[in-house]
Amino acid sequence: MVFGVVACRARTPLPGYGCSVLGLSLAAVICFNAACKVMPQNEDTGHFEQAKQKLIEELESEGITNPRVIGALRAVPREEFVRPLDRDAAYDNRALPIGKGQTISQPLIVGMMTQLLNLTGEERVLEVGTGSGYQAAVLSLLCKEVYSIEIDPELAEQARERLRRLGYTNVHVKAGDGFFGWREAAPFDAILVTAVAPRVPEPLLEQVKVGGVIVLPLEEGWKETLVRVRKLADGGTAMERFGAVAFVPMRGAVRKKETAH
Ligand code: SAH
Repeated sequence: MVFGVVACRARTPLPGYGCSVLGLSLAAVICFNAACKVMPQNEDTGHFEQAKQKLIEELESEGITNPRVIGALRAVPREEFVRPLDRDAAYDNRALPIGKGQTISQPLIVGMMTQLLNLTGEERVLEVGTGSGYQAAVLSLLCKEVYSIEIDPELAEQARERLRRLGYTNVHVKAGDGFFGWREAAPFDAILVTAVAPRVPEPLLEQVKVGGVIVLPLEEGWKETLVRVRKLADGGTAMERFGAVAFVPMRGAVRKKETAH
């Protein structure tokens, strides 16, 4: 195991355009680990190879250095998760619209959030905010099972069908409010929230294992900060901050002051 501090900064923030990094300093634990699992293939990968290689080099220079994470980002065909008219922009390092006012996250953000989970291959991971299913596909190559919740039923159905078609058999998608987590599938080793919330949803803290982490963007005043919250054995939590980000808002129960769960 090698521990290192990596500085990363994004260059093209897209205000109001979800899921991009604004400027960020990332302390990452770099873990050289077993190679990735067998990846699903698609027919026209060759067409995108050059753009993908350029993107991967950019991500590495921005601090995505965990070889397993890089392997997964290389393996998942992002062009399959964007609208047909955006396919040629699939390997630009930016968020893209996926319909219903939502976005597929910027690749740098996907890489950073995934890297912060330090997955070894054995974990059960919950994602809140399936969107296109891209982040779930990346996770699926790095852990045992992915459970992903999407509040928009149409997006959930599209992502489920896309992931099935591409062969990501260890991803389970359900439509619902991710604030409440996925009780029947809990506990989770790690939880990733890909929409910005005013606080850590209490049910998610209950459903993560002791020692496990929740990575999410949090609203802090006017800013949004990427944080990693670890659940401690004494019932408390420890929070680390990783800089400013811009995400689409988490909707539903998290916006209500008191939510029974
Ligand atoms: N991870 C996605 C991008 C996420 S965009 C990808 O890889 O494509 C954020 C998503 O979170 C949107 O699709 C939005 O509909 C969803 N979302 C917002 N609030 C939610 C909630 N309470 N529960 C589940 N999903 C939510």
